[in-house]
Amino acid sequence: MPMNANFYALLEDKMRAAGDAPAFETSDGQILSYAKLIEDVGRSAAALRSLGVAPGDRVMAQVEKSIANVCLYLATLKIGAVFNPLNTAYTAAEIEYFISDATPKVIVVSPERQAEIETIIRASKVRAVQTMGSNGAGTFTDLAATQGPAGETVSRSADDLAALIYTSGTTGRSKGAMITHGNITSNAQVLHAYWGFRPGDVLLHALPIFHVHGLFIALHTSLLNTSRILWMPKFELAEFMRLLPRATVVMGVPTFYTRLLAEPSFGIDQCRNLRLAISGSAPLLAETHRDFTARTGLEILERYGMTEAGMITSNPYKGGTREPGTVGYPLPGVSVRIADAEGHALAAGEVGVLEVKGPNVFKGYWRNPEKTKEEFRTDGYFTTGDLATMAKDGRCTIVGRAKDLIITGGFNVYPKEIEGELNSLPGIGESAVVGVPHPDFGEGIIAVITPVPGQTPPNEADIIASLSKRLAKFKLPKRVFVAKDLPRNAMGKVQKNNLTAQYRETFKG
Ligand code: AMP
Repeated sequence: MPMNANFYALLEDKMRAAGDAPAFETSDGQILSYAKLIEDVGRSAAALRSLGVAPGDRVMAQVEKSIANVCLYLATLKIGAVFNPLNTAYTAAEIEYFISDATPKVIVVSPERQAEIETIIRASKVRAVQTMGSNGAGTFTDLAATQGPAGETVSRSADDLAALIYTSGTTGRSKGAMITHGNITSNAQVLHAYWGFRPGDVLLHALPIFHVHGLFIALHTSLLNTSRILWMPKFELAEFMRLLPRATVVMGVPTFYTRLLAEPSFGIDQCRNLRLAISGSAPLLAETHRDFTARTGLEILERYGMTEAGMITSNPYKGGTREPGTVGYPLPGVSVRIADAEGHALAAGEVGVLEVKGPNVFKGYWRNPEKTKEEFRTDGYFTTGDLATMAKDGRCTIVGRAKDLIITGGFNVYPKEIEGELNSLPGIGESAVVGVPHPDFGEGIIAVITPVPGQTPPNEADIIASLSKRLAKFKLPKRVFVAKDLPRNAMGKVQKNNLTAQYRETFKG
């Protein structure tokens, strides 16, 4: 019989062997053991089955971070279905699109959202809307509690889908990245070994779990290691500092580290057990890297990846140097090249688009073969859209983005989507949205609008209020400026670089 490539089957073996060892510990000191986690996943899996979810069906979850939410994820894998997590900040208008695209069998949402979603799904094939609140309680958890804990882990091949994760779309629409059991298994095993996971490791988990960083990278490595996971519903500085002394591993976005460094009482004492502090999802300033080392004696380990490919490169854990401002070397088994517009590898040091190939690279965009074809080379390399250089020894540095992406507080925002919403408001002629340096969020979003000739545009507060009905909070411009014209080049394209330069001081001091 071929081996079951279901990633949960691998985890389940490890977790069963761990028995009563602690899996999750919440801020109030409550502990869930690995044995109990297996049981809870079993009950959630039975609940999904009772709702009619079959292998290959999508389970959509727009749920706050909780252990029940983790069980829902693992249960989805266990029954061979496809987990489709959504950012909790998305509005009902945005979710409507995801439902029509992903056509989930079941949707789990917060109790406050239930009525809105039920209206949306009337015309769709969704079987059931279930609820799960921020503390994990809701109709789904109630249903799971009535189920038995045992049940088969469905056999999957490495090529079968495990998750459907939406990325921001350049055309304003998100694309669903199809991620297979083979993708997550290979990446989890490689990172577990590369970052030196060992018995006794304790992870401090403060990332969201609707994104690959918190859901896959942090959870998978630690569950494979059957580590104790100190579980925070979200990053909160004082609580993070309280728990940090017990952690050997943390994974964060650059904002975590800048906030820690802004706190005068943060230092070596909180990091006494820490062996690994990972940063990723957005560029870490070399200055933050150096300040952290000066304060704690530890070097942050920066790595680079994306939804479509999991982790791609990492600075070394052992041997070699962690060079500030670089993202390190391609991970074992992962091939990277820096290529020109035709996909030909460039010489060391030249700037081009980073392309990647390997078992970590996703299967393609959901129901979008044209886009998939566009982003893959004929020899199998995926074009990330990130501009990078590679040194002679293979060390990579990300220098910018070929696509027009803004990363604010770790979230990706494509200006085009916001511009579309702005242009539809009365009184606004044109708009351009750019990211400018922001001390806390890395980049802060600003919009520049022009009035419809002869009309007065709405004021800044009204514009932001209108957008907030349509767009998630993290996508809202923090400032809106009015200009007579937008700067354009000879081809009529808006020169966003000029706007970025003009407004780059917006969030300074
Ligand atoms: P996501 O799919 O949300 O994980 O976003 C992936 C994008 O985040 C990448 O394509 C990069 O543009 C950016 N990114 C991730 N890690 C890093 C890093 N260490 N340095 C610079 N950019 C990064």
